[in-house]
Amino acid sequence: MNSSLDGERQGATPTGGLLLQGKTALVTGAGSGIGRAAALNLARAGANVCLLDLIDERTEDVEKEIRSIGREAEFFDVDVSDPGRMEQAIRAAAERFGRLDVIFANAGINGTLAPIEDLTPETWDQTLGINLKGTFLTVKNAVPHMKTNGGSIIITSSINGNRKFSGFGMSAYSASKAGQVAFAKMAALELARYRIRVNAICPGGIQTNIGENTNSTKQLDKIRIPVEYPEGAQPLEHGPGRPEQVADLVLFLASEQSSHITGTEIYIDGAETLL
Ligand code: NAD
Repeated sequence: MNSSLDGERQGATPTGGLLLQGKTALVTGAGSGIGRAAALNLARAGANVCLLDLIDERTEDVEKEIRSIGREAEFFDVDVSDPGRMEQAIRAAAERFGRLDVIFANAGINGTLAPIEDLTPETWDQTLGINLKGTFLTVKNAVPHMKTNGGSIIITSSINGNRKFSGFGMSAYSASKAGQVAFAKMAALELARYRIRVNAICPGGIQTNIGENTNSTKQLDKIRIPVEYPEGAQPLEHGPGRPEQVADLVLFLASEQSSHITGTEIYIDGAETLL
């Protein structure tokens, strides 16, 4: 994998071409954090990019930035949990670019963090609706446009719900993130016949804005960690990871460099979950 710090080599094949030349990628949650970094990385590797997010000037900035590096980009204002809008937006994206090769189903929220007895069915539905149903709707609507050429689908899950269960009040989030991994595996089996690969990525703590919309981050239990590591530490980084590091994994999974990898989950957590 190329380093995101090395702009010159980024996204290049061993022969100097671009890994995603002529391909189209679709990224949900593209306005911020991991989705933004991935959209830019995929564009640098040659892809034109459809950006899906709730309307926000940040997403428009990503669109401009991608155009400035010579790729096509279009922003679609869509709530990933809305079946009608998702069907419409993904069809419009496929028509606009003529093909869809890479899907990064990444939009997500922490949701309301609360003890189970205080969690309402409405807040449960909101978290599962965006994180899990949103992933299903992204894949469901993209598949008809990928069956001819094959492609790669990458789903952002989390360590939380798969390897780490220490966050107090995160039952809905964890359930949604575990569900995404199970969904990725079933989709990989079902879609292999079309040469569509499906993988989940499970980041540990990454420096993004996701905590800002969370009602009760302060309620999170302190995780038990050895004294030489501060709270939330990752041994490799001595702190949270960067969105660009996740974006490099997304590019690897999007490209033919990972042509035999499907139906798996990949942890990108600097060994946080080994503490
Ligand atoms: P972020 O808040 O920076 O980005 C999330 C993006 O998703 C935002 O642009 C937001 O507008 C968009 N979004 C939210 N709800 C949406 C909806 N209903 N429809 C369309 N777009 C919507 O957060 P991030 O950390 O980059 O999160 C991206 C993914 O990474 C999420 O699925 C999250 O669960 C996962 N994740 C994050 C971390 C972390 O520590 N940051 C760790 C593990 C997994």
